[in-house]
Amino acid sequence: MIITVDPEASEEAVRTILEVAAQHPGITPRKYDYRGANTTVTEIHLIGPAEIIRTIPEKLFSELPGVRSVLRVSTRYRLIGRHGQKHQSPGFEYNGVAFDESRVHLFAGLCAVDTPENVGKMMSELAANGITTTRMGAYKPRTSPYDFQGLGKECLPWTFELAGKHGIKIVAMEVTNERQIEEIQDALRASGNATGVMLQVGTRNAQNFELLKALGQQGTFPVLFKRGMGITLEESLNACEYIASEGNPQIVFCLRGVKTHLGDPHRNMVDFAHVPVVRRQTKLPVCVDPSHSVGRLDRAPDHLFDIFHVVGQGVICGASMVLVDFHPDPKTALCDGAQALRLEQLPLLVEYVNKVRAAYEDVCAAAAQA
Ligand code: PEP
Ligand code: MN
Repeated sequence: MIITVDPEASEEAVRTILEVAAQHPGITPRKYDYRGANTTVTEIHLIGPAEIIRTIPEKLFSELPGVRSVLRVSTRYRLIGRHGQKHQSPGFEYNGVAFDESRVHLFAGLCAVDTPENVGKMMSELAANGITTTRMGAYKPRTSPYDFQGLGKECLPWTFELAGKHGIKIVAMEVTNERQIEEIQDALRASGNATGVMLQVGTRNAQNFELLKALGQQGTFPVLFKRGMGITLEESLNACEYIASEGNPQIVFCLRGVKTHLGDPHRNMVDFAHVPVVRRQTKLPVCVDPSHSVGRLDRAPDHLFDIFHVVGQGVICGASMVLVDFHPDPKTALCDGAQALRLEQLPLLVEYVNKVRAAYEDVCAAAAQA
């Protein structure tokens, strides 16, 4: 059972709800605060055997002061689930950047960090376009063991220092094990917290439960979870529930295409029609990754890259974040150069994202009146 507390409820009201819940033997009430940029939503979850929870009348809580709603939920997506609630979910704020349903952030950057020169050029172009979020892979799990595996912890000090220099607030960066989380923590501290990091779970690790638990147990970094390329949406959402159930609700769910040759010639089958599905089923802000979905730089007869068209699909569906590969010189990139946009293409992408987002907001406002 989930009791959602009114945003205006007093501390005493919250205490009373917890006390009433604790009166039931075998039930542990647990309080969760979802802190967004504009609102904080507090929920009290009744944890215990379903047989006991079933016997507790909803009225016991719905009539208490400060209670907004009482929901009986199945254990499915207990923490990340939206459970039919219509109000905007609060999302979360990290390092001064808000992730919620009311805005979209462009994380443009290098698939893999290679040289300080390229990282510096990328970040300076982001700064020139007013962007404070980027992607920079230091640890790269690759299909072949003979491919470039990323520079690892060696590149963290100068990557973070350059991020700080260019006003970057968040760097999205994949990790594949707990040791890498510690390396990032140490390097960030040594840089005087020059920037922030969003830890990425790659598609190949979507069901690496020990990694998911470790990401849930650390309370420092938000997590960008990339949908498993060959598992169902439900399985990927359950993986996010692992992260949340270990204590970290700051998760962004990223769609990045699914693996099937039915998507040829694209690298993966674009799955951005799932943006509204994930938004309906969960409270998580949704990201789309057009680069790893499309995987190539073809242009349609309208002059736009397929990647742009797919960015548009994600943003028009209400995505809160877009992850795009760039490189100052794609032909020398050590990873995924074939899908990397050039820095000169950033201003047009920014304009395109803003225009599509504005169209999305207009049509949502019209739909609300209809
Ligand atoms: C990436 O974003 O660099 C990446 C490897 O993505 P994915 O895990 O979705 O393939
Ligand atoms: Mn890549």
